[in-house]
Amino acid sequence: MLSVCILGSTGSVGGQAIEVVRSLGLRVSGLSTWSNVRLLAEQAREFGPSACAVGDRRVASDARSLLRELSPTPELFVGTDGLAELASMAEHEIVLNAVVGFVGVYPTLAAIDAGHDVALANKETLVAAGSIVMGRARQRGVSIRPIDSEHSAIWQCLAGQNRPALSRLILTASGGPFRDRADLSDVTRQQALAHPNWRMGPKISVDSATMINKALEVVEAHWLFDASPDIMEIVVHRESIVHSMVEFVDGSVIAQMGAADMRTPIQYALTYPTRREGLAERLDLAGLGTLTFASPDTERFPGVLLGHQALRRGGVAPAAMSAANEVAVDLFCRGMLRFCDIAPAVGEAMVSIGAGGEPTIREIVEADGRARQFIEERCGGCMR
Ligand code: MG
Repeated sequence: MLSVCILGSTGSVGGQAIEVVRSLGLRVSGLSTWSNVRLLAEQAREFGPSACAVGDRRVASDARSLLRELSPTPELFVGTDGLAELASMAEHEIVLNAVVGFVGVYPTLAAIDAGHDVALANKETLVAAGSIVMGRARQRGVSIRPIDSEHSAIWQCLAGQNRPALSRLILTASGGPFRDRADLSDVTRQQALAHPNWRMGPKISVDSATMINKALEVVEAHWLFDASPDIMEIVVHRESIVHSMVEFVDGSVIAQMGAADMRTPIQYALTYPTRREGLAERLDLAGLGTLTFASPDTERFPGVLLGHQALRRGGVAPAAMSAANEVAVDLFCRGMLRFCDIAPAVGEAMVSIGAGGEPTIREIVEADGRARQFIEERCGGCMR
């Protein structure tokens, strides 16, 4: 039975990973949360992992007393270092990383160094540190299995294909909740969080509304599939049934389709290369009737282009983009930045930070810090 360590198990993807693991009857060897210790303890009671981790040190003593009631009591690791310690334990066979934000990079690298395959839902890991993560995975001979639906789709479409014959990656985008809204100047947090198709956490819901999510995914795809920005195209597909496509030099296009349900890509990353009975609803194509495709509106959604721009700049530009975006989204959620100012602010931060050559992890961390500071200083005070 496969032993899975689920990092970020109390979040949206983590919770859906729990459903998959429960239905497949897999062993859970580790669990982590940032601060939701109550849910972590409930999950630990059900699955009996040998260790847990909490990211936020302030909740460590609460976690300790809740976990002490379990027998056997799981070992507890604390802080960002704690997440990495948990990820590196020998008994996991695969580490599923569903942590939100750049802090997810440390447990990803720790898991790779320990020789574990990584099922990756933490976008920021690949966006900021793709060259390092993929390089180290190659060195250690471990696989990075994408959980993001678009990348899972591309991964599935490329299976058994002749890679040099690949001519285009076509990433589909739902277009988010504002695809039909002309005026984006007075968007509220609540409106941005209401995604029409997917069940997701707040950060990615806002990213999807600005379409910066697609920019992050272009960078992810670059690293996962060694694809240049020139062959990556974004198509708005509002039904979220085609999760992405690949085109080959002969003009053939292969698409992966399915219900908009993250449990499918999560499960594929865990059971690869085999397939097991899944939890998602089956497609009723005749019932759906029509699938539509359109070019993204780059005037209303300039953020959709940021990924291509970041890759062309190279160096730490993707890391700066991702970090600036994290802060901008947070400021927007706290009512301190207008929705329509998120993408321009992120673009400015990226230009201001510069790019440089192939970065070290220290340079990435520095660029991350400077991008955050840039947004805070520039936007932290600009209330409407
Ligand atoms: Mg996605």
